[in-house]
Amino acid sequence: MRMVDLIEKKRNGGRLSAEEIQFFVNGYVDGSVPDYQAAAMLMAIWFRGMDKQETTDLTLTMVESGDKIDLSPIPGVKVDKHSTGGVADTTTLIVGPLVAAAGGHVAKMSGRGLGHTGGTLDKLESIPGLSIDQSMERFAEIVGTCGVSVIGQTGNLVPADKKLYSLRDVTGTIDNVSLIAGSIMSKKIAAGADKIVLDVKTGSGAFMQDLEGAENLARMMVEIGTLAGRETHALVTDMNQPLGNAVGNALEVEEAIRILRGETGSGSTGSTDDEAGTVGTGVSGDGHILGTEGGDLKYVSFELAKKMLILGEICGDEEEAQKKLDWAISSGEALERFACMIEMQGGNRRVVDNTDLLPRAGEIVAAKAQSSGYVSAMDTAQLGVSALLLGAGRSTKDDVIDPAVGYWMKHRLGDWVEKGEPLAEFHVNSKTRFEEALKRFQQAINITKEPGEAIKSIYRVY
Ligand code: URA
Ligand code: CA
Repeated sequence: MRMVDLIEKKRNGGRLSAEEIQFFVNGYVDGSVPDYQAAAMLMAIWFRGMDKQETTDLTLTMVESGDKIDLSPIPGVKVDKHSTGGVADTTTLIVGPLVAAAGGHVAKMSGRGLGHTGGTLDKLESIPGLSIDQSMERFAEIVGTCGVSVIGQTGNLVPADKKLYSLRDVTGTIDNVSLIAGSIMSKKIAAGADKIVLDVKTGSGAFMQDLEGAENLARMMVEIGTLAGRETHALVTDMNQPLGNAVGNALEVEEAIRILRGETGSGSTGSTDDEAGTVGTGVSGDGHILGTEGGDLKYVSFELAKKMLILGEICGDEEEAQKKLDWAISSGEALERFACMIEMQGGNRRVVDNTDLLPRAGEIVAAKAQSSGYVSAMDTAQLGVSALLLGAGRSTKDDVIDPAVGYWMKHRLGDWVEKGEPLAEFHVNSKTRFEEALKRFQQAINITKEPGEAIKSIYRVY
């Protein structure tokens, strides 16, 4: 086989056999296929696409490129949860303890921030002392004791994705359904869960921005998971605004803790603003509006947790799951499970009672509305970049994150704001970084005299 023939075949709209996909992926991992040929192939795939069989073959070939995790020492049906990536998407830190409190076992390997999106591991590391590096034995022990543990990847999981992702990142080939599906599902399958719940984001802060693309991605991943023997479900959820109100690592941990404590709304402490506009409305899959105390982050977290409880055979239906989750919050059990996990991973469990133990920035500065009107649209990816510029994420691989910095959004889409009113409260440690971040933030928020279109928080359930 010659790589150039495979590139031409795909470029001309042909389909690749399992052997041809293996030749490409394995060759790229072992170095026999150079970057330039792999890049050309990725671009041909981006333009021509892959069908379901090709995408499944790509995924399974990627799984075989490295280690596979055996979660059988952990009792029960292991249900994994994965978000395709977003801003203020802190669902894992809420869903994990919730499902654990309801009787499930969540053994999750998470990732770091990618592009404009935040990463669960970076958030967790803002908790003083907590380590995301745990042996497989210790991981199983923590899940056994607390019902939940979130750690970094152990072993050499899907090396093909590490190489391909870095190349896609710099060749304009991230936003392709088959390439994203292969990247995510290979990691989920290698990570060993029995069943998988996917949170596929759509909108201005998602990798797959348009709804149709996100729906295709969701369906494709559900099919691949099912073909691989791992029952998979997916929710397509909104990323046209940050999901929660906190953007930045320690701030997002604080918001998760507030939701686990059952505090409604999630504005910042010492807020100068009223809290009313910060609470969003959730719209269920079939379109009716539900009251959502605690906003979209809590709503989406609950929907994901319910799916996990049903898939994990802990609950028979949504109603039972909702009752268990309400109890998990009101009894303090979910908060206790989070504290348990923090402690067993070496962190200070007292943060759940006193969030002032989290790293704090030197200064809090308001980002003010530059005109009066409705908050009608947000460029959510740019809001993510704003936090990154502040120091909450990495611009290069070697950047060091400042866990304390970030911002609390004071408004959501559809709110009316007066000129000069705070749109957000920035937590900053460097004036020059703040100026850059603020500029990006202001450009990303559209204020108009007419309200924008109403936004749902969940579009589809598969
Ligand atoms: N997240 C991933 O892990 N891979 C992608 O390709 C996109 C988002
Ligand atoms: Ca408000």
